[in-house]
Amino acid sequence: MTSGPPDSLVVRNIDVLVTMDDDRRVLTNAWILVRGNVIEALGNANNKPPDAAHTIDATGKIVIPGLINTHHHFFQSLLRAVPSLQNRSLWYWLLELYRPMASLTDEMNDVSTRLVIAELLLSGCTTAQDHSYVFVNDMAFETQINAASEMGMRFHLSRGSITVGRADGSIAEDDLVEDEEKVLAHCEHLAKSFHDPTPGAMTRIDLAPVSLFSNSPWLLQESAALARKLDLGLHTHCYESQEEEDYCLEVHGARPVQFAADNGWTGPDVWFAHAVRHDTQEVKLMGLTGTGVAHCPSSNMRLASGIAPVKEYLEQGVRVGLGCDGSASNDSSHLLAEARTAMLLQRVKHGANAMTATQALELGTLGGAKVLRRDDIGMLAPRKVADFVAFDLNQPSFAGALHDPVAALIFCQPSRVDLSVINGKVVVDDGQILGLDLRALVDHHNLLAGQLIEATEARFGHDLSTKVWHQAWR
Ligand code: ZN
Repeated sequence: MTSGPPDSLVVRNIDVLVTMDDDRRVLTNAWILVRGNVIEALGNANNKPPDAAHTIDATGKIVIPGLINTHHHFFQSLLRAVPSLQNRSLWYWLLELYRPMASLTDEMNDVSTRLVIAELLLSGCTTAQDHSYVFVNDMAFETQINAASEMGMRFHLSRGSITVGRADGSIAEDDLVEDEEKVLAHCEHLAKSFHDPTPGAMTRIDLAPVSLFSNSPWLLQESAALARKLDLGLHTHCYESQEEEDYCLEVHGARPVQFAADNGWTGPDVWFAHAVRHDTQEVKLMGLTGTGVAHCPSSNMRLASGIAPVKEYLEQGVRVGLGCDGSASNDSSHLLAEARTAMLLQRVKHGANAMTATQALELGTLGGAKVLRRDDIGMLAPRKVADFVAFDLNQPSFAGALHDPVAALIFCQPSRVDLSVINGKVVVDDGQILGLDLRALVDHHNLLAGQLIEATEARFGHDLSTKVWHQAWR
């Protein structure tokens, strides 16, 4: 028999509850009471769980705050493991990537967004960011916002753009280039139409010119001014490759972080994707200014970009969260896997005690919340938004590790989520995304991925699909 207010939910009999609260409590035999979209109370065996209108039994589960993804490009799921993208470093990979982008459609935009959100949900993600920087043909940013809303994902749309192409000395195809004044006007329109600044917001807009070499200093400065006028976040790729440093030194006369700083792009409202190559002074500058980082370890390894100085960032007070990055440079959108990879990669650089499992999990939860400038998510505590996920501990990959379930979650094979609650609503139950025909979505996505490759080959010719364009920007 259940009782309690109609909008109440209690999750009880939780084996292990990781709060990530100020005391970093880990509770056993625990429960969470949700009222509406917020956590009303939580406790352990010392307190009897209250009754609620809806009850979920979490016997055998570990519950953690929902994971937060701080950097992605959803459309790239259509370009996974493309042969000409498999074995290139960033600069040459980008030259190949720009070509199919001109053939994207809004149907592809919609289906790739839904596919990646499904994948993220199943990996434990409850807040997704997309650095969306392609605006061609009939594509609309609203399509992504609608898809995220329908699927129940908390969503940060970072409105990106390419505004400097080959004709102006950069490397992007010119048919991807947008007019900078129109970009700014559209950013303002999106923000005024969809950005919700209130706690518990399901949709937020950030301003996100794609990079320091595919946008002009003017757009960077104007974007920073507009974001500060509207209190939006600022996001871009920064310092992902040696070629980027070479470009910034040659064209702008400064290394990437200094160039970003010179144009207003440091501060507590800014976060950079990747930031793998900074020196000590740049790390200090980022710490002093409160600038954040979306750490994308799998992508950095796949493109051989380097090992981000995460340990140094944390020591200097830089905000660090995790990102999957786009699926053409990390062919997986598994955020729990990124936490594991982040831990392992810091060990390659700094030794076996460089990062613990708990620290890796913190990057994916509290760290991500700080990067996105949110204090309503990332931890489980009264009055925080009810975003949490549960993993079944009784699966083969965790066998033998249950003396330390938190470590098991990060050290062992990345698992698929069993339960996901976002904004107080059950979105994944018993490992299934509610209301979604996942197989039909996958089939539709595969069809469109094939169409995108065909369109690209028709546009550029088969022989060009594997050509390396050396130093094209010079
Ligand atoms: Zn990226």
